[in-house]
Amino acid sequence: MPRPAGEIILTNMINQPEPKAEILARRDTIVAAFRGMLPPEAVIAEPIRLRPYETDGLSAYRQPPLAVVLPETTEQVAAVMRYCHAEGIRVVPRGAGTSLSGGALPMADAVVVGLMKMNRILDIDYADRCATVQAGVTNIGITDAVQGRGFFYAPDPSSQLACMIGGNVNMNSGGAHCLKYGVTANNLLGLKIVTAEGDVLNIGGRHLDAAGYDWLGLLTGSEGQLAVITEVTVRILRSPEGARAMLAAFRSNEIAGACVDSIISSGIIPVALEFMDRPAIHACEDFAHAGYPLDAEAMLIIEVEGSSEEQDALLARIRAICEQHDPISMKVSQSAEESLAIWKGRKGAFGAIGRISPDYLCMDGVIPTSRLPEVLRRIGEMGDVYGLKVANIFHAGDGNLHPLIMFDANDPESFRKAEQFGADILKLCVEMGGCLTGEHGVGVEKRDLMPVQFKAEELEQQRRIKTAFDPDWLLNPNKVFPLAASSERSARTH
Ligand SMILES: Cc1cc2nc3c(=O)[nH]c(=O)nc-3n(C[C@H](O)[C@H](O)[C@H](O)COP(=O)(O)OP(=O)(O)OC[C@H]3O[C@@H](n4cnc5c(N)ncnc54)[C@H](O)[C@@H]3O)c2cc1C
Repeated sequence: MPRPAGEIILTNMINQPEPKAEILARRDTIVAAFRGMLPPEAVIAEPIRLRPYETDGLSAYRQPPLAVVLPETTEQVAAVMRYCHAEGIRVVPRGAGTSLSGGALPMADAVVVGLMKMNRILDIDYADRCATVQAGVTNIGITDAVQGRGFFYAPDPSSQLACMIGGNVNMNSGGAHCLKYGVTANNLLGLKIVTAEGDVLNIGGRHLDAAGYDWLGLLTGSEGQLAVITEVTVRILRSPEGARAMLAAFRSNEIAGACVDSIISSGIIPVALEFMDRPAIHACEDFAHAGYPLDAEAMLIIEVEGSSEEQDALLARIRAICEQHDPISMKVSQSAEESLAIWKGRKGAFGAIGRISPDYLCMDGVIPTSRLPEVLRRIGEMGDVYGLKVANIFHAGDGNLHPLIMFDANDPESFRKAEQFGADILKLCVEMGGCLTGEHGVGVEKRDLMPVQFKAEELEQQRRIKTAFDPDWLLNPNKVFPLAASSERSARTH
């Protein structure tokens, strides 16, 4: 159902810490201070111009920030951070705002530091196979910059046209091709960061490993809570000689899940192994006309790469494994155009579901691949109990589930049920030996589920790390940790 542009669906449904009244009262002074340190167009304070920043990819939650600043250099970021630290102002770093877990959701008393103007490629080193870029360069922008010389940047979130490398590092983003190449963490070499106090630090570099603690590991997936990242050095890889995708259609989710398990346990690592169930196949086919099998209950997209002989050999082995699971049909793409159409359907999946449901929640959990058949069966049963439709689209090869729960945000009961259903799916992932998040992060969405995964002592140790980087808990403070504990921590430090 189309919704009037700009209409607020649900404001502040999520528990937020109380905004600091003295910061709200000093808003004009704070904005004037930013105008003194940044170019005029880099400071946004008018309510109407704050609206685009009030939400992110988890658009059910909205909150306009105190102000937005859009620095263009690391020095400008450092000046903003020094001021915010001195004045006790909360800061929410933001890339493209595509987070699906509410990671970039503002607070009423927080300044959003948007990195989108920091969008320059700084250095490409083909000999050492790395590129240094500002944090606001889009994910696809890195591959665009190097593909003319036969290179690419491997992690490929479906949002890659929009999402930025700084956001990718903070969410440790993955994508369809991460089965073979690993996620952001596995492709990262160095960072330039600005600390909560406004100090500029260089971490890692153009080489493989760094001495001392693994700071890169610590900052990857830190969800804007430890520092503002301004520059990123990533590994770039030689493009493969060629790649081919195939489709395999099955009679049930469980059979397709068992086939995934057989492929992975055979030792073959395809470059991508994606799963779609019936609702997803239909929605994506209507949208992309990719030739998906409409008679199937579940479908796998399997991609291999290498020389054409290597592709043929791998596809023959994979077909033989699929045959053991009684497929309805199998189709190997015969041209680059056919492969592109197959991926167009998959990468446009979220938009395609948006055409058949007014709203959906995209969950993101991980399970051991051997538990796929059981988990898919139980998600189906839960959908029946809640009376909500669910489409399953996910990176099956690495056990990263993305059930899309369809609901109507104009109906509070439907929204409540969708949230509960989502929480039950994530608890199931933990019960199966998996975890709460594969690639979308914790944000506000999964914050209160963290105790399902971690003991109190484990959470406390993580809080100590946050406190070491950000003693006053000013950086994105209401995310990741269960609210009661993080507000208590904020209160103790002020
Ligand atoms: C249609 C769609 C498809 C998606 N598909 C995938 C997918 O396949 N795989 C996947 O992993 N994700 C996917 N996502 C989620 C999202 O795109 C990723 O999490 C992405 O990395 C977020 O990048 P961003 O630039 O939009 O960051 P934002 O949403 O702006 O921010 C994300 C988090 O990072 C922090 N942050 C951002 N930039 C900085 C910085 N420079 N310094 C410090 N903190 C920062 C923010 O505070 C926030 O906590 C998808 C989202 C959508 C809407």
